[in-house]
Amino acid sequence: MKSFRYVRAHSVEEATAAHAGRATSRYLGGGTNLVDLMKLGVERPRTLIDVSRLPLDDVAELADGSLRVGATVRNSDLAAHPLVRARHPVLSQALLAGASGQLRNMATTGGNLLQRTRCPYFQDVAKPCNKREPGSGCAAREGVHRDHAVLGHSAQCIATHPSDMAVALAALDAQVELQGVRGTRTVPAADFHRLPGDRPQTDTEIAHGELITAVLLPPPAPGTVSAYRKARDRASYAFALASVAVVVAVREETVHEVRIAFGGLAHRPWRARRAEEALRGAAPGGEAFKRALDAELAAAEPLRDNAFKVPLARNLACDVLRRLTRPDADADAGAGATP
Ligand SMILES: Cc1cc2nc3c(=O)[nH]c(=O)nc-3n(C[C@H](O)[C@H](O)[C@H](O)COP(=O)(O)OP(=O)(O)OC[C@H]3O[C@@H](n4cnc5c(N)ncnc54)[C@H](O)[C@@H]3O)c2cc1C
Ligand code: SF4
Repeated sequence: MKSFRYVRAHSVEEATAAHAGRATSRYLGGGTNLVDLMKLGVERPRTLIDVSRLPLDDVAELADGSLRVGATVRNSDLAAHPLVRARHPVLSQALLAGASGQLRNMATTGGNLLQRTRCPYFQDVAKPCNKREPGSGCAAREGVHRDHAVLGHSAQCIATHPSDMAVALAALDAQVELQGVRGTRTVPAADFHRLPGDRPQTDTEIAHGELITAVLLPPPAPGTVSAYRKARDRASYAFALASVAVVVAVREETVHEVRIAFGGLAHRPWRARRAEEALRGAAPGGEAFKRALDAELAAAEPLRDNAFKVPLARNLACDVLRRLTRPDADADAGAGATP
């Protein structure tokens, strides 16, 4: 690891001023991703600005019923928060499906959103990787790519985004609050991560030097239930091959509202907007779910070794939708119907 300067920020203003948009500055959250990448030589910051002790460590209920989750709230605390468990079980379940207890105790909300891809070639500085070194090539395309993208990938990069939490936030229509030296702005969580296109080195819409200060969770509509499901090679401590976050409300035997996001399929959480549109106003049921998801996944372009992800994702989503829309879904532990 290269030597670096360590600065502990005591306020948001101090943090953004210390960063000042310098290419070689990085914010430090729990360090569970950044420090690993520094050890591997993938990240070589000259200045680390520790933001993990900023006063952004609580979950507050706002007057309109939204929850404001501070950027330094640890993943374990967010998963266990009573209001999150009651109103947004999909988020609690997604967090608990990620990493391990020790990692979740360290990992922060802001750092989780900005964790880098787990593509093995990105982490190996001896291999060509357009994301790590633009223009060097993509070793994964002809290499080991079973875990890689089936939707929205480009000739430059076929990596997936690894966060479970971000998939739930996309389905919840959450907003990400950012603070830069020029002020504050919010970006919808579903648009926060980007597709690789011809700029795979850029994972998100955040500007260099902007600080994530909070995530805003809108209140769920009455009757909404939600759940997260993840398929992986091991029962714990493994990233998603495919995952799905579903938020749905059925009224008078009709799908009144539905939001579906996939993880493990693309360079960003994939909002299944085509499937959502097909399902809104329809009678819930296995055939309707399958038709809508097949229409969504018709856009998939699997690689040599990952075509299995397409039926896997469809079956996961159909199963979650079926369970959540059963007439007794309120009684389903974790479904979290709101009154
Ligand atoms: C073995 C292992 C298994 C894992 N399994 C999973 C899994 O199954 N699912 C999953 O979702 N994750 C998994 N993870 C990843 C883990 O969730 C992330 O490492 C963690 O969430 C990152 O949070 P952090 O606070 O430690 O981020 P850091 O490592 O501190 O930072 C990550 C990035 O975010 C930036 N950053 C941090 N805070 C801010 C902020 N407030 N504003 C702007 N930039 C910021 C940093 O500069 C850095 O670029 C795993 C990790 C490991 C090591
Ligand atoms: S898939 Fe993306 S991250 Fe992986 S080697 Fe190719 S360019 Fe790099």
